[in-house]
Formats: sequence, C-alpha cells, structure tokens
Amino acid sequence: MRRSLVAANWKMNGSREFAEAFFKALDLKGANGDVVFCPPFPYLPLVGELVESSGYDNAGLGAQNVSEQEAGAFTGEVSVAMLKDLAVRYVIVGHSERRSLYHEDSALVATKFRAAREAGLVPILCVGETLEEREASQALDVIGAQLDAVSELVGSDCWNGAVIAYEPVWAIGTGKTATPEEAQAVHEFIRSRLGAAGPQVQILYGGSVKAANAASLFEQPDIDGALVGGASLDAAEFAEICRAA
Ligand code: 13P
Repeated sequence: MRRSLVAANWKMNGSREFAEAFFKALDLKGANGDVVFCPPFPYLPLVGELVESSGYDNAGLGAQNVSEQEAGAFTGEVSVAMLKDLAVRYVIVGHSERRSLYHEDSALVATKFRAAREAGLVPILCVGETLEEREASQALDVIGAQLDAVSELVGSDCWNGAVIAYEPVWAIGTGKTATPEEAQAVHEFIRSRLGAAGPQVQILYGGSVKAANAASLFEQPDIDGALVGGASLDAAEFAEICRAA
C-alpha cells in the first residue's frame, strides 16, 4: 500500500513573516500521509525549523530546484550537498516553469534527477503536456519521452525511491483541473512505464488542486497525492487538502 504525499510548492512567494504566520495557522490534525514543504531557497532553514516544531511527524522539507553540478564556478546555483546540509529530503526537478521559462530540457532535468538520487535526496520529477500537445493527442508521447530521458541516463531502476508529479501545463495556475478520470488515465500510463518499481512509486497530481477538488482526485487508484501551488499558500486550505489525501 502506497502512502499518500501532499507537497506544497510555494514557488517564488513568501517571506520570513509569511512562513512564521503560515506555520502558526497550520493544523495538520487528521492528516496521516506524508507532507512536504518546498519554500524558496532562502527560507529552507527557517521552514525546516518550523516543520520540526510543527509536531507533525510525517512532514519533510523540499527544495524547488537544484544544480546538476557538484560544486564550483556556477554563479547562482545551489548544489545537492548544500540541500543535504540543510536537512532537505526532497527536491522538485523539471517543473514546467523551469522547463519553459528557464529552458531546462529533458536531458538537463535527467542530470538533476541523477544528482539528487546520488546524494540520497528524493527527486520529485515533474512531467506533463501543454494544451497544444493534448489537443494533438500527443500527451502520452510527450510524458513518455520525459520519463525515458531520465531512465535512459540513470538506468531502468531509477524510479525506486523517486516521486513523480503529473502536472498538465494547461492546468497550472489556470483554475482548470484535469478531471479525475483524465488524470487517472495519465497516472496509470506513467505507472506502467516505471518497471518493477511502479507499484511503489508515489505519483502526485498537480495543477489547480484545491480543497474543493482534492478528494475526487485522491479517490482515483493511481493518484497518490498532490503537488500544490497556489492553494499551498493558505494554511487552512492546504491542511484540508492534506486531510483529504
Ligand atoms: P497551481 O496549484 O497554482 O496550479 O500550481 C501547480 C504547480 O505548479 C505545483 O508545482
């Protein structure tokens, strides 16, 4: 039986004051799956302390991105060793905003995934199609290729200990969610591509997840949780999503 996992991706939002107020208001009573908080880099130490003192045993800390390089002259980058140093356990790789706005291609994402795995971090690999790709019936081909780029570089046993997030680009920050059935069909496809590790891998859905639609998504057999953007900035709403998982 897979545990559920709900991850908060704060993106480039928040402040010291916001983080303190968020955790003061956060009440995870009634949740029993894993919960991960991914604040911007500068707030990792503070959020780490707040997570620790939240009293919720299954809460962890995650980063939103990481360098594929080990160390050296890479201005503006953050390494896996630095994340480990801050007790970070998870790292998002290949978020669609990184792919589209910062031109990270699947080959680069695969090297980030490999760096995370080698350091003992849990990569949360984001995959998903654009609206045009969906309308051209290419969604599964695109997602298959995003997964293959990782398994070809890292090896077919790469999925053990990883998390996948299916985030249709057209559903991110748009208020449009894939229907539970649409999402389930893609999750089932993704799981079938993960080889022997498939049954154990947590596959999250992301894209306009809210308290109001979380339960119907989580009812689907291959949806193990969510990667939440906008709604993760509201402590009460985020807690409700965690309770639904
Ligand atoms: P929204 O929940 O704001 O649509 O963002 C989803 C997302 O990109 C999470 O990584």
